Amino acid sequence: MSLTLIRNADVLVTMDDAGREIPNGAIAFRDGAIVAVGTSADLAHLTPDETIDASGCVITPGLVNTHHHLYQSLTRAVPGAASVSLFGWLKTLYPIWARYTPQDVFAATRLGLAELALSGCTLSSDHLYLFPNGVTLDDTIEAARSVGLRFHATRGSMSVGESAGGLPPDSLVENEDAILADTIRVIDRFHDARDGAMVRVGVAPCSPFSVSQGLMRDAALLAREKGVMLHTHLAEDKDDVAFSLERFGCRPGDYAEALGWTGEDVWHAHCVQLDAAEIGLFARTRTGVAHCPGSNCRLGSGIAPVRAMVDAGVRVGLGVDGSASNDSGNLMSEVRQAMLLQRVQNGAGALDPREALYLATRGGAEVLGRHDCGSLAPGQRADLAIWPVDDVHTVGSWDPVAALVLAPPAAPRDVFVEGRAVVRDFQLAQASRPEILRDARASLTRLMCDA
Ligand SMILES: [Zn+2]
Repeated sequence: MSLTLIRNADVLVTMDDAGREIPNGAIAFRDGAIVAVGTSADLAHLTPDETIDASGCVITPGLVNTHHHLYQSLTRAVPGAASVSLFGWLKTLYPIWARYTPQDVFAATRLGLAELALSGCTLSSDHLYLFPNGVTLDDTIEAARSVGLRFHATRGSMSVGESAGGLPPDSLVENEDAILADTIRVIDRFHDARDGAMVRVGVAPCSPFSVSQGLMRDAALLAREKGVMLHTHLAEDKDDVAFSLERFGCRPGDYAEALGWTGEDVWHAHCVQLDAAEIGLFARTRTGVAHCPGSNCRLGSGIAPVRAMVDAGVRVGLGVDGSASNDSGNLMSEVRQAMLLQRVQNGAGALDPREALYLATRGGAEVLGRHDCGSLAPGQRADLAIWPVDDVHTVGSWDPVAALVLAPPAAPRDVFVEGRAVVRDFQLAQASRPEILRDARASLTRLMCDA
């Protein structure tokens, strides 16, 4: 019931319908929802229970991460996987991932979410697609609750192993009936469709090269029956497209469309290799894209046609992707990388800093079906980040909003989710950083010893 007022921000970036940026900005929220946005003078009549000064800071909506594999946070910079493309990279890592226990997934997820929170993210999706040794999606949801981020867990899966012509080892694939049964279980247990939901669940077979057409089709039917979203990897690199042409006789976009994998309730990760017809299909069907520029560079997958997608009306958000292919989980770095890559491909005017920031906030929220998040306006959820712009990284900037992308601050000072602090004064407010690090180091030691 308590009212919080944040005031004196150098600029408040709303990402609202009018795209307002409010100098000397202020924002007030109560019970997880924003009640007022304006100048500090506009909100001076309020009688808050708590007042936070944001002098020397820019306030933005919290960043939204549309693609991640949080379990990978314990497999950064793995020798043998550092300089290979997608399929070789996966084959190097599968045997390590096969050794994960529920404790390892919990530790990795908390580590990755702490990293996201400390870099300004308030809403993250996660794609967990392997379940060795008793691992469940529940482990990731429990981890998210302890850090305080809004969390869209997706129940991934792999069902076509090497012996059946797929990429993963047979030991890591699951029976398709068991996959669907467990997907129903986690939706019924955790999915919250209401505005302000802290947890939602999606259905997410891993990729066309690790599950069957039947599972893709059944997953789409199940998601629609349950009213949840669909997510997978698509057209990530040239090998991925070649696999589709050889195995299915069609391009990835046609494959997705034929199996029910287009629509406003679907988002695909990467889409680096979509052609003009596929971009048209995604725009027409309101299908979303999670653009992961850092991962695409790291794996040499190519430059996604983001400018063309946005111009065509495709809904695009940003993702850090898993920490085995990034290897960090800092979404503001991805904003900058997204902007730079489009400029390499299309020239200096190809992506403006503000447009890149939009993709990482409101754009991502819309891709995830969260019209209650991603912008700062009365009635929206109180998810925001407060970025200090008065330090050595940033002083000298003439335009403090563009500077968030061009001269990014090292970290946000404070981050709020549903009106609750998850970061205060650069430190986690709900979870223990030493405990997260201790658990992550213990799991890492065990995974490395077993290698
Ligand atoms: Zn991925």
